[in-house]
Amino acid sequence: MNERAGWENEAITRAINAEPWQPPPGMVKLQCLDCRFWFATADLRLMPRCVDCESQRQQRLARQEAEAAAERNHQNYRALLLRK
Ligand SMILES: [Zn+2]
Repeated sequence: MNERAGWENEAITRAINAEPWQPPPGMVKLQCLDCRFWFATADLRLMPRCVDCESQRQQRLARQEAEAAAERNHQNYRALLLRK
């Protein structure tokens, strides 16, 4: 898919998404906190984020956790070196 077609699809999807629509039975309609996209979900334990933003958030959290772990390792290593 070229970039322009991708952008047009995105614009069309968002235009349709902005129209009033009803969620399927058993689901509720929520607006994504991050990108304002409306989506339907049956799982109310989730924070209101669309699939795209949620997966980006998970990746960001995983990266932050990895960085924090690396920092802890670094601190532990420094502490070990300083003890000698
Ligand atoms: Zn979103």
